[in-house]
Amino acid sequence: LFLDLPLAQGQSVELSRDHAHYLFGVMRLGVGAQVLVFDGVHGEFLAQVTNAGKRGGTLEVLQNTKPLKMPPDLWLVFAPIKKARTDFIVEKAAEMGAARILPMQTEFTNAGRIQRERLQAHAIEAAEQCGGTFVPEVTEMLRFDRLLAQWDSTRRIMFCDEATADDSPTPFSGGAGPWAIFIGPEGGFSAAERTKLRAMECAHVAQLGPRILRADTAVVAAMTLWQSAIGD
Ligand code: SAM
Repeated sequence: LFLDLPLAQGQSVELSRDHAHYLFGVMRLGVGAQVLVFDGVHGEFLAQVTNAGKRGGTLEVLQNTKPLKMPPDLWLVFAPIKKARTDFIVEKAAEMGAARILPMQTEFTNAGRIQRERLQAHAIEAAEQCGGTFVPEVTEMLRFDRLLAQWDSTRRIMFCDEATADDSPTPFSGGAGPWAIFIGPEGGFSAAERTKLRAMECAHVAQLGPRILRADTAVVAAMTLWQSAIGD
């Protein structure tokens, strides 16, 4: 269970209504039950229920069971698509070890806005389900031009760009990071955006095979490729 506050042994933590509902209503736990909690800062702790109510409750933090394990410094920068597919992208990116997830508005991005908190909740659930101790931050939507204008060139870009007829396939070979994977929307990156990205010295074009993948599939393929080349 993710608790969004720094934890320490001996601490007493008030539970939110949602957490109380989950622990006592759904999981049917009561006073004395033990649960694993993590804070994204100090790692995972064993905690014990000391008070259980319908709308709240209390946990006592017992001992640290796992230190915080940071994922590799990998960002996923993607153009949001339909709601359910965007949820999928955030969930899979968190499961696969993205350190930060950045929704980006490109020329052909249809989604005008995102529900950041909803997406953050998906990232939390994904971290909880895979036993991680870290939750990637989902940022507010950023405009493509703004993002590139303030880009720190020490962060290399794995620019996922489907091949054009005059391209020879460029397999991704990696190299020392930090990295950011860039995935376009359903309509792809515009010609101007592709030109800008290809002109950046820190950008490496990566092709994900000869077929055009849907953006959500492309995210999983790119993260797998990155993990196998340089991840841990
Ligand atoms: N330009 C496209 C079109 O409308 O025909 C399709 C874009 S694709 C659905 C969405 C994004 O997934 C692309 O912008 C790219 O970042 C990534 N992508 C899909 N297939 C890819 C491939 N074979 N190699 C590299 N990137 C790919």
